[in-house]
Amino acid sequence: MKRVLITGAAGFLGSHLCDRFIKEGYHVIGMDNLITGDLKNIEHLFKLEHFEFYHHDVSKFVHVPDKLDYILHFASPASPIDYLKIPIQTLKVSSLGTHNLLGLAKAKGARILVASTSEVYGDPLVHPQTEDYWGNVNPVGPRGVYDEAKRFMEAMTMAYYTYHGVETRIVRIFNTYGPRMRLNDGRVLPAFIGQALRGEDLTVFGDGSQTRSFCFVDDLIEGIYRLLMSDYAGPVNIGNPDEITISQFAEEIIKLTGTQQKVIYKPLPQDDPKQRKPDITLAKKLLGWEPKIHRSEGLKITYEYFKTLTAEELNKVEHKDFSKYAKH
Ligand code: UDP
Repeated sequence: MKRVLITGAAGFLGSHLCDRFIKEGYHVIGMDNLITGDLKNIEHLFKLEHFEFYHHDVSKFVHVPDKLDYILHFASPASPIDYLKIPIQTLKVSSLGTHNLLGLAKAKGARILVASTSEVYGDPLVHPQTEDYWGNVNPVGPRGVYDEAKRFMEAMTMAYYTYHGVETRIVRIFNTYGPRMRLNDGRVLPAFIGQALRGEDLTVFGDGSQTRSFCFVDDLIEGIYRLLMSDYAGPVNIGNPDEITISQFAEEIIKLTGTQQKVIYKPLPQDDPKQRKPDITLAKKLLGWEPKIHRSEGLKITYEYFKTLTAEELNKVEHKDFSKYAKH
């Protein structure tokens, strides 16, 4: 039986990856330090014989007994408000954590796929973004802790590929949404749906003309699975090129939820990218992959998920206490 280690297993994408690899017949080892992850996302897996969970911070030495065939490194805070609260942990998990996991891959002879991001393109001057664009990142801005850690992650991963011959894969993930997103992580979709469900106005940052391109989680997981099984070591964009302004997105959420609330405007956060849309020509060619789920369908599924949250969950402003992590 093949064995796969998934870091960030209790998070949004990590938990969906655990489900996918269980479905494919793997022995899945999930790892998470539970700072931004939530065991609720994987509690249905604990009863399975072929799922184990390690409560561990991958920026510290990682030990996994026995053989490993694949490693997927998905541990990281993933939203701008998290970076502001835990900037040093954000830097460490994609730098020290990536180094530890590459070392583990080398020791085990495992193939490793690391989760990079469209944030490596920063506030992009090339549109749509192709893999050969080097990006426009502010290293000392509020997003720098995430963007630069992910850029370091890519560089370190390529070094293990060229210098040590480790089998590596790099996915550049664009905005993704779906069930198990954290309601209060500050990202636009949970923010808008949470506001609609609580009967609050929807907060659009800036004038709402900035664009994003949202991919439903099932499409993303399929792209990642195919990339892992491919033989291509360079970075590959996985995302949905269906671009929309944030104002239009707010209107879609108002229609979807039937809320009577209106849109209100708040200041645009520093370094907020003005536009983002993946060029997925490479993924199509290499992996025969393209997204299949239209936003209208994906949003319905996601809304149904958020409707299952309890009133207590819905009204918690922030369900994680980050203060104890602030000074490591
Ligand atoms: N945004 C917004 N209102 C919110 C949260 C986010 O208008 O309550 C905007 C944000 O400024 C950005 C876009 O929505 O332009 C996407 O933000 P998100 O944090 O989801 O992702 P990212 O900026 O990392 O793509």
